[in-house]
Amino acid sequence: MCGIIGYVGASEACPVLIDGLARLEYRGYDSAGIATVVQNGKLEIRRAAGKLDNLRARLAEAPLGGTIGIGHTRWATHGRPSEENAHPHKAGPVAVIHNGIVENYLELRSALLERGHRMRSQTDTELISHLIEEHIKAGCGLTEAVRLTVGELRGSFSIVALSETEPDKLVAAKTATPLVLGLGDGENFVASDIPAILSHTRSTVVLDDGEIAEVTADGVRIMTFAGTPVIRQPRRIEWDAVAATKGGFKHYLRKEVSEQPQAWIDTLAGRAIAGSPEVRFDEDLLPSGGPETIGRIVMVSEGASWITANIGKYLIEELTGIPVEADFASEFRYRRAPIDSHTLMIAISQSGETADTLAAMEEGMRRGAHTIALSNTLDSSIARRAHARLYTRCGPEISVTTTKCFITQIEAYYLFAIHLAARMARLSATGAGELLAPAFAIPAQIQRIFAVEPQIERIARRFAAAHDFIYIGRGINYPIALEGALKLKEISYVHAEGFPAGFMKHGPIALIDETVPVVVLIPNDDLFGKMLSNLREVESRGGKIIAVTDRSTDELRDVASEVIELPATNRMLTPVLMTIPLQLLAYYVAAERGTDIDQPRNLAKSVTVE
Ligand code: GLU
Repeated sequence: MCGIIGYVGASEACPVLIDGLARLEYRGYDSAGIATVVQNGKLEIRRAAGKLDNLRARLAEAPLGGTIGIGHTRWATHGRPSEENAHPHKAGPVAVIHNGIVENYLELRSALLERGHRMRSQTDTELISHLIEEHIKAGCGLTEAVRLTVGELRGSFSIVALSETEPDKLVAAKTATPLVLGLGDGENFVASDIPAILSHTRSTVVLDDGEIAEVTADGVRIMTFAGTPVIRQPRRIEWDAVAATKGGFKHYLRKEVSEQPQAWIDTLAGRAIAGSPEVRFDEDLLPSGGPETIGRIVMVSEGASWITANIGKYLIEELTGIPVEADFASEFRYRRAPIDSHTLMIAISQSGETADTLAAMEEGMRRGAHTIALSNTLDSSIARRAHARLYTRCGPEISVTTTKCFITQIEAYYLFAIHLAARMARLSATGAGELLAPAFAIPAQIQRIFAVEPQIERIARRFAAAHDFIYIGRGINYPIALEGALKLKEISYVHAEGFPAGFMKHGPIALIDETVPVVVLIPNDDLFGKMLSNLREVESRGGKIIAVTDRSTDELRDVASEVIELPATNRMLTPVLMTIPLQLLAYYVAAERGTDIDQPRNLAKSVTVE
């Protein structure tokens, strides 16, 4: 999830690019870099690992002139965050910046190496510059070279290319990641979002998927990947840049909720392909002896990652039959859990820096376990130390409470469980294909849930004054009851508890009266009838039921005060869809109560202390 900016006009490009990057830094800050065409017609590049200030310092020592250029702030997906992996990447006369993932990068990279290209980085981006270079050498203009190149790439990406051979133009292209053009007077811009260019122009054109734009100082020309010209009227932006650094949303949390379909797509990219039963990872996640050497799986984590681990436990046990334990890292460290060389340990941390999780993983390693790090941060401490790595690809999550990393951790376990079961020959190709197909529908289904947001906002207002909330679920959705309660506690400071529905009558039902809203996760499964009975027990004690379901029957509507309806998916993926309304419910309760939603009191995003 990188930030992209490009400028062509009569002014110095460098200050425009740096100003744009500063506004885009929320999209990642693993490294930053710019390329401009300087006086002698040559491309020059400055790059630096880490935050934008490092690049600023580099430019102070070695300034860059020129009135055309591209700039990039990186959130690494392929190749560690270092200067050599920083964008722009150059091949021959061409420099490229890129946001997204090239799914077929392994194939393309080995083909390019065979054809004699030399790669200087580990990124998927660099090969794009080599492909464009090849087409230019074969006689194409830059625009045609980019057009032919995007035809060779698979994945979701946006790119901008600049070439010494045509130093008056930028060529941009995009699939599923955003790109917008800014139209000025004798100058034009391209960027990942509108705020990056809003201080220069309010006239914008948003590129659609599958479009290419040729940008010069005098104008822009848009066409499809097939080369068909596209005419699009510019839109005038009326809002101002300050509010918009959150992408037009009031809070990062709400923005990140809306980014979940893309995070899901990115985490799936290259690992599963629609129509194929295979799940592939960048590296072998299993111990060298293969799946038969795994006697048990132990998952260590904290906070919301501990909650997703409990969903992972259901998924992995059901598909592989291997016993799984999901432990708090802070508890695991100090007890004498039986760990040996037949243990596969999964350490889960969004930041990859959680102190307890890191220590628990190291303890597991000392006792012979094979370890996998599940993290959202490339090259984080946990990722570097584990035997193998599985990354979620959410881009930076700025809001302290997690949203997109939560659902993509579930996605990662789902893919891992299918992969492991297939390697153990417990799952046929047909079975794996049937499990994978619904995963491709999830992004559109999440979008459909956003359509009921006004209903959730109204429910939140109705119950925002309550002092306690209870969340209940069964089976694979029981951990989602915990997540709903945790989210509400974290951002609205309202006391909330999650319980297994069957446990209610063993104690918690004593809490129920007419002031306590009970959020019930009730999917269309074998336990639907049992859940209805649990609801009757709550309702007859005055509890107000908010049901979240993909099966809204008359009886359910009769017993519940509110029913939030979801699209149907397969049973194992219901926790993903169940999570979305609970995020929105917590968000609107917090908004109603006026708390600091993105930075709730007493919390920090990455807990690097024990
Ligand atoms: N895949 C590119 C890299 O790792 C771009 C990453 C992104 O857009 O997040 O450099």
